Amino acid sequence: MSQDASLTSLGDLGEFGLIEHIRTQFELQQASSVLGIGDDAALLDFNEKQCLLSTDMLVEGVHFDLSYTPLTHLGYKAAVVNISDIVAMGGTPTQLLLSLAVSNRFSKEAVDALIAGFRQACSFYEVDLVGGDTTSSNRGLVLSVTAIGEVEQGKHISRSGAQDNDLLVVTGDLGGAFLGLQVLEREKAVFLENPNAQPQLDDYQYVVGRLLKPEARKDAIEALADLGITPTAMIDISDGLSSEALHLANASKKGVRLYEDKLPIADETFKACEEFRLNAPTVALNGGEDYELLFSIPLSDHAKFEGHPFFRVVGHVTPDEKDRCFVTNQGQELPLKAQGWNALSNNPED
Ligand code: ADP
Ligand code: MG
Repeated sequence: MSQDASLTSLGDLGEFGLIEHIRTQFELQQASSVLGIGDDAALLDFNEKQCLLSTDMLVEGVHFDLSYTPLTHLGYKAAVVNISDIVAMGGTPTQLLLSLAVSNRFSKEAVDALIAGFRQACSFYEVDLVGGDTTSSNRGLVLSVTAIGEVEQGKHISRSGAQDNDLLVVTGDLGGAFLGLQVLEREKAVFLENPNAQPQLDDYQYVVGRLLKPEARKDAIEALADLGITPTAMIDISDGLSSEALHLANASKKGVRLYEDKLPIADETFKACEEFRLNAPTVALNGGEDYELLFSIPLSDHAKFEGHPFFRVVGHVTPDEKDRCFVTNQGQELPLKAQGWNALSNNPED
């Protein structure tokens, strides 16, 4: 990338130059951010609130492919997936730390594109970049983001609180990001065969957008608060509904039942599934990276959100820990399996 003479090499800028370049692009907006970038550590003050922390690492070639992931989108997504973890605890995201390992194949302009996407997410979700680390890598790009959030004492929502007969609810729709990946992988294969081929993405904007530009469902948490609903347990759907439902069941020591006819699937996802000869409910159940929320609520709260466009009941919690199943439209009960994107498997989808 930095072979182009019109681009600025990172070597010319240097580590401190780059950090300063990043620092000047971010302003602190949270009351809890006392000191941000520039000292040995950031200083935060949450008064009597509790602090939530989460971190995620993204490795080029493992978690993203730069041949079809624009750096701006990558920066945005790196922030969002971490913000999503704070949201999934029922917290308000407040700060982020960004650690970067970049090879000299990247130019300053490339890093700028990444930072621009990151900044867009910071501004949209009202979070402050308060620190990080910058280093070189021999090959490729590694991003590590730490998210910090606040929550009122005792008000966090863990994975372990699901109760017998609670309803299982998801936000948004599922499976789109997985189809977006299939489309981009297909276009990449076409391009490798014929470098003059132009990517054909117009018909797939929705699913590609689901993969490249996911959102953390902070809006759904706010809607729940407005409706007076407090989930008993919650998790974000990064690895697929089936896998997350099992996490919730394990942590809560309960059973879970999900129903095929209740899975929320967008029309665009259905269409793409037909084309790729994939079974849409299977994709909705196992495809990851949608970053929607899965939560449990008492049955008595159902009426409070009935018809709300954000929420869909997909199943329920059962008292029997061994009862983990997917009920098909024919009434068949299949054992629920975690077939989502497992970071340590050899699955090329990871
Ligand atoms: P130290 O040597 O103490 O680790 P650094 O020189 O790595 O300090 O970092 C100086 C300041 O810049 C610190 O506040 C650090 O958090 C911040 N920083 C470094 N890299 C980044 C980055 N990629 N994004 C945001 N802040 C960064
Ligand atoms: Mg450092």
